[in-house]
Amino acid sequence: MADPSDQTMLAALLSMIAMTAIVAVRYIASSGLFAWLTSRVHPGLYRGLERQIGMELRWSLASAAIYGLPAGLVAWGWQQDGWTRIYTDPSDYPLWWLPLSVLAYLVAHDAWFYWTHRWMHRPALFRMAHAVHHASRPPTAWAAMSFHPIEALTGVVVIPALVFVIPIHAGALGFVLMVMTVMGVTNHMGWEMFPRRLVHSRLGNWLITASHHSRHHEQYTCNYGLYFRFWDHLCATDRGLSRP
Ligand SMILES: [Zn+2]
Ligand SMILES: [Zn+2]
Repeated sequence: MADPSDQTMLAALLSMIAMTAIVAVRYIASSGLFAWLTSRVHPGLYRGLERQIGMELRWSLASAAIYGLPAGLVAWGWQQDGWTRIYTDPSDYPLWWLPLSVLAYLVAHDAWFYWTHRWMHRPALFRMAHAVHHASRPPTAWAAMSFHPIEALTGVVVIPALVFVIPIHAGALGFVLMVMTVMGVTNHMGWEMFPRRLVHSRLGNWLITASHHSRHHEQYTCNYGLYFRFWDHLCATDRGLSRP
């Protein structure tokens, strides 16, 4: 009979392999969907970018393997009772905690991203790692996870670390991952899908969409945030939108 610890290791390993496959499929499905939408709404926008898209695909699939490992470990750990703070019974916490937990995860992820992103722009690190992401000029929907492995490693720790600290319902966590995926793709797809009324509103002044992140890809030294413009405003790195 196999040693129970061997079985545990095997279960964790299988979970990590499964999560890598899920992250890769999620990337292809979400980027594929918005690339297709781009071809309908703005035909020809990605013309001449075939080589760049091939590169974005390769880096993104390599990132999928890096993202899959801790995600698989968390998924496995979730099945070991009490290991993470992910809960499934909505009555375990007050109902108002559902939206608040989502906001807490997004705010924490945004802060981590802003500061690690600024750090990635230091010349040595930029040359070594972050230049891969900025090789997308202009970015396409396929650039969502186009990161050098060093940068993928800095991004991969946030959500898996938060599930050990901040309680979240499994469904709310799924929603956070959906927001992360959709915004990651649409912020790079080269056109603004949100209505001008929202993007140029007072609320839009605090939210990051494609118009904001495109300017980062054009000018490099501004607009570092992920979801919210809070840190960019606070640190005077916000240079507005790329298509006013
Ligand atoms: Zn980007
Ligand atoms: Zn950057």
